[in-house]
Amino acid sequence: KKTNNQMLVIFGASGDLTARKLIPALFNLYVAKQLPKNFVVLGASRSNLTDEQFRNKVVYQSPYLKAKIEHLKENYIKGFADRLFYEDLGSDYTAEYTSLAKRISTLNVANGTDNNYMFYLSTPPSLYEPIAKNLADVGLNSQEEGWKRVIVEKPFGYSLETAKKLNTGLQQYFKEPQIYRIDHYLGKETVQNLLVTRFSNSIFEPLWNRNYIHHVEITNAESVGVEKRGGYYDKSGALRDMFQNHLMQIVSLVVMEPPIGDQPEEIRNEKVKALKSLRIMKDEKTFFDNTIRAQYVASEINGEKVKGYREEDGVDPNSTTETYAAIKFFVDNWRWEGVPFYVRTAKRMPTKVTEVIIHFKSPHHQIFKDSGVNNKDNKLIIRIQPDEGVLIKFGVKVPGQGFKVERANLDFYYSSLAQTYVMEAYERLLLDAMQGDATLYARADEVEAAWEFVDPILNYWKNGKDVRMYGYAAGVWGPENADELIDDLGFWRNPSSN
Ligand code: NAP
Repeated sequence: KKTNNQMLVIFGASGDLTARKLIPALFNLYVAKQLPKNFVVLGASRSNLTDEQFRNKVVYQSPYLKAKIEHLKENYIKGFADRLFYEDLGSDYTAEYTSLAKRISTLNVANGTDNNYMFYLSTPPSLYEPIAKNLADVGLNSQEEGWKRVIVEKPFGYSLETAKKLNTGLQQYFKEPQIYRIDHYLGKETVQNLLVTRFSNSIFEPLWNRNYIHHVEITNAESVGVEKRGGYYDKSGALRDMFQNHLMQIVSLVVMEPPIGDQPEEIRNEKVKALKSLRIMKDEKTFFDNTIRAQYVASEINGEKVKGYREEDGVDPNSTTETYAAIKFFVDNWRWEGVPFYVRTAKRMPTKVTEVIIHFKSPHHQIFKDSGVNNKDNKLIIRIQPDEGVLIKFGVKVPGQGFKVERANLDFYYSSLAQTYVMEAYERLLLDAMQGDATLYARADEVEAAWEFVDPILNYWKNGKDVRMYGYAAGVWGPENADELIDDLGFWRNPSSN
């Protein structure tokens, strides 16, 4: 794909994300010769920095680039750093942008960026709309000459209402196709792999429905606690921080119908349709029976004491924010009628893992009744991270007399294919946006459809009558009660076992 000459304007450029993720991703693209011939970055925020100081901060003295640039020639690094500029916005993002517009125009002429501007909003979300308005006021949303795009960071809202407000706020000034909502969690490879596994294998797709699938299980586990983000996390929780965005992405890819083709809108249309078919919970009993929340409590992991969630820095000692969420739900459409989905996400689990497990139904007629194997063990496991790959579990006969059946694994690791350099998430996503490919960016209706499902659960947890908060020791697979959610099977797969 072609990458046009362009300028990337980063709002909030003095912040953590710019130094830690954005500039290193751009530097990698520079090394991989993926940046267009004419390309500059203009950092903008309220901090008082010169171009030189900005370059020092995010390149020459950046801890995040240190290892990458150590062995490189000075001139080569300078070739990148000289493309970076900085504009002091003064004391307020909401004050008019006349001088910013002038600076952009001057840089555009001097560097031949063809009036193509990408605005990256790396600020607190409360500033997204005011920044968009100010850009529109000075005509920087107009695509008469060159294209204009806006990238916004998560979170996309705190609830359905705030997400809608954010969307309509942005859409007053930029058209939906100009808006790119970034979700870096699922790297491009992962999403594409999931689509390929589903839609390029005639051995899976015919089975991918209520006739053959017993239930679907999705686990997203982190081994860390809230680390230094206690204050932020306590206002968010597992459902907002992981489920509403990342897990809903995975759900939509598992649930969706085959798209007509591989074009961004073709794939995004199917994802939205999938999310809209999730059965929204309504009454108290449904919430009670199908949702579980919990918090980790103090424990020891490998002989090391770890704090409970409520003791973490920045967390309210009486907090009711969940660090574990498990949800059972159904998908109301032709393909999935009656198939339960079990999705859980949590912190302080025994290991870091994300996986999708398709549990197939037992064969209709059990010939090997006393074979000792549970036929529901036929599983397709799509490992998303780490060790991305696909695992199939099936029964084989144990050599010898009789029909003793044992479970065997067909295990495939993507790493055994990766002879080429696999780009990091931000690199791939930035390059996609620079090329105008929005496949992996969330559309407004997609974000809202995910909130439509999640919002009622959050409301129930906040205002419901008999809402429980379970505890689990840091380093175990969540509260025991969560096993009861998985109807007749009675347990979640242990991702640490093979
Ligand atoms: P940050 O460091 O807190 O903020 C970025 C910049 O925004 C600051 O340097 C500050 O620059 C400016 N700013 C304006 N008003 C502010 C206010 N009221 N409070 C704090 N800063 C303010 O944020 P970040 O970590 O770079 O993240 C930027 C965006 O990406 C946020 O929306 C965040 O939710 C999202 N995000 C970040 C990460 C990450 O890994 N850091 C991951 C996912 C999503 P000046 O004071 O110089 O104007």
